[in-house]
Amino acid sequence: MDTADSILKAASLLRTATCAVAFTGAGISTPSGIPDFRSPNSGLWATADPMTVASIFGFRANPQAFFDWVHPLAETIMQAKPNAAHLALARFEQLGHLAGIVTQNIDMLHHRAGSKIVHELHGHFREATCTHCFRTHDGEVALREFLITHQIPRCKSCNSVLKPNVILFGEQLPIETLRSAQAMAKRADLMLVIGSSLEVAPASEIPLIARRGGAKTVIINLEPTLLDLEAEIVIQGDASVVLPDLLRSVEQTN
Ligand code: NAD
Ligand code: ZN
Repeated sequence: MDTADSILKAASLLRTATCAVAFTGAGISTPSGIPDFRSPNSGLWATADPMTVASIFGFRANPQAFFDWVHPLAETIMQAKPNAAHLALARFEQLGHLAGIVTQNIDMLHHRAGSKIVHELHGHFREATCTHCFRTHDGEVALREFLITHQIPRCKSCNSVLKPNVILFGEQLPIETLRSAQAMAKRADLMLVIGSSLEVAPASEIPLIARRGGAKTVIINLEPTLLDLEAEIVIQGDASVVLPDLLRSVEQTN
């Protein structure tokens, strides 16, 4: 099946689905200029291994190394704008064709695109928590200060290090968010997997839960994924091109 046929078929599945859910990974945000971890030239692997520096153990042992590593990524995220793929998903939700999004991303671009139901399995930068007194702070204010001063963000009450509410390697996923995402996956009769290698567990189990419940699967990714063989439709392409095409196809026949 060529891409045009696959888009027509995916559009037909979206129109007839009663509960379509999107599962998104770092690949949906690369067209917004935020590198994924796997692409060789992303730079995120270049200076340090994220598995070490961006792990909870690495953070506790050496918060300075974590903040040095996260600085360029945080700067990119704060400046990034949603791309056509994020906007298309927001539009699908508005049109009643998408029940919600489960994302691995921490970049907040689905919210900025206008999507309402978004389960952020790996957290976000909107909040930061004190590692000593656990007071919650405005994460974006703390991050902006950090980007200017390069000083580790600290708690206004006790001056201990603040940790952004992003889930580091080795940390548990936020349980409420995970439960909501699992419940939505169980209800799904169509799962769109977009820009994820599906290699980061347990987040990658969400499309499998939908699959086990009988949902059809559409995969939109630049390279093959672990679920391709089971999927009804696989579209190898750039999400920021494929999703607007899919939206046009759905709107034309609405
Ligand atoms: P991932 O495992 O989700 O892999 C990204 C996938 O997207 C790859 O298979 C790649 O081929 C594909 N891809 C890249 N650009 C694409 C495009 N334009 N269209 C379609 N597909 C595209 O993600 P990862 O990079 O291995 O990240 C692992 C974890 O790190 C994530 O789960 C996330 O928590 C975190 N992370 C988040 C961000 C973000 O918030 N934007 C960025 C990097 C990493
Ligand atoms: Zn504190």
